Amino acid sequence: MSLIVQKYGGTSVANPERINAVADRVKGFVDDGHQVVVVVSAMSGETNKLLQLIKDVSKQPSPRESDVIVSTGEQVTIGLTALAIQERGIKAKSYTGSQVKILTDNAHSKARIINIGTENIQKDLADGYVLVIAGFQGADENGNITTLGRGGSDTTAVAIAAALKADECQIYTDVNGIYTTDPRVVSTARKLKSITFEEMLELASLGSKVLQIRSVEFAGKYKVKLRVLSSFEKNGDGTIITYEEDHKMEDPIISGIAFNRDEAKVTVQGIPDTPGLAYQILGPIAEQNIDVDMIIQNIGHDGENDFTFTVNKSELDKTLEILEGMKSHLNAKKIIGDPNIAKLSLVGVGMKSHVGVASKMFRTLSEEGINISTISTSEIKISILIDENLLDMAVQSLHKAFNLDQ
Ligand code: ADP
Ligand code: ASP
Ligand code: MG
Repeated sequence: MSLIVQKYGGTSVANPERINAVADRVKGFVDDGHQVVVVVSAMSGETNKLLQLIKDVSKQPSPRESDVIVSTGEQVTIGLTALAIQERGIKAKSYTGSQVKILTDNAHSKARIINIGTENIQKDLADGYVLVIAGFQGADENGNITTLGRGGSDTTAVAIAAALKADECQIYTDVNGIYTTDPRVVSTARKLKSITFEEMLELASLGSKVLQIRSVEFAGKYKVKLRVLSSFEKNGDGTIITYEEDHKMEDPIISGIAFNRDEAKVTVQGIPDTPGLAYQILGPIAEQNIDVDMIIQNIGHDGENDFTFTVNKSELDKTLEILEGMKSHLNAKKIIGDPNIAKLSLVGVGMKSHVGVASKMFRTLSEEGINISTISTSEIKISILIDENLLDMAVQSLHKAFNLDQ
């Protein structure tokens, strides 16, 4: 008998038929003698609808109330999924995040899990129940409902698997595993049998939405056996995340391409080159809880610097407002915001020992006439910013140039 945590994303619980399919799959595992904990997302499109309703009513919605609203999508699916499982003669019980006691900090809309109280659910598991837990949500120490950021049900599932020391955490979605890049953008993308934890962490952090980054971090920290597979297929092994460090010799140079359309670029132009500049610019932005991603400071000319960074598109206006307020204090000439960019990244542990990856990447893009506005690199990735409209073309040509379809 194994303890298995299964997470079903939005398209996997999109309607009664899909929920019945989930219940059938759960029944299969129960019939095989396993204990099953199910984590569900809201029906696909539901979270977006709720976010739109909030916008329609309030210009600057209170984060607390926003989370009260946006967390309701998952409350519907836990109830429905529990009912569908009960229909099959199996004991099932739904749990909201706070009923489990998923304790988070109070950073509404991007809360972090601090602790999971497992006492209640352990008891129900021992009593033979299938537990159906709402993804994406928790509660802070004062009982306020919090949410974990878009895609957060992945993190709920992995955190629950870690807390219960589950034998496996299965992430069921609408593709049958992790591919060399998003199969919706590159039709020749290749499914990977396994991927190293390190590479998955990079892909997720660079925008591959197949797993939320925090779920991968949790998996790594607690060595959760994590698998991504399709809820639309009967069989299939999906893709397993591996933790071994010893097969790097055979690793391909590039394992995948990630991209992110959610970022916007901010440039502060013509600021005097003085010590502490980065802190002066980014300090007030961090204080407003705005996450900054790529940061590039251009080499000064005539004692002046350009400072460029990216933020989430939804936080561009707020960022520009903060910077405009400090413009004279910073002695900056100009502040520019550009939402029409996309970030594209090549990822691979094999890159460490190979030179020439960057030059091949840049040559490929120049042959396509694609202009690169910003570059940043680390040991196992190269990220660039390009025009959002050219993203698909860029991903397709790089996928081919690096033989990722072979
Ligand atoms: P769910 O609602 O099940 O959580 P998501 O939409 O969050 O599903 O994640 C699955 C999607 O991730 C796929 O439909 C696919 O378009 C996208 N995706 C992006 N990069 C990859 C990749 N490298 N491999 C597989 N899927 C990817
Ligand atoms: N329903 C939430 C979202 O759409 C969480 C999730 O699906 O993982 O982002
Ligand atoms: Mg998701």
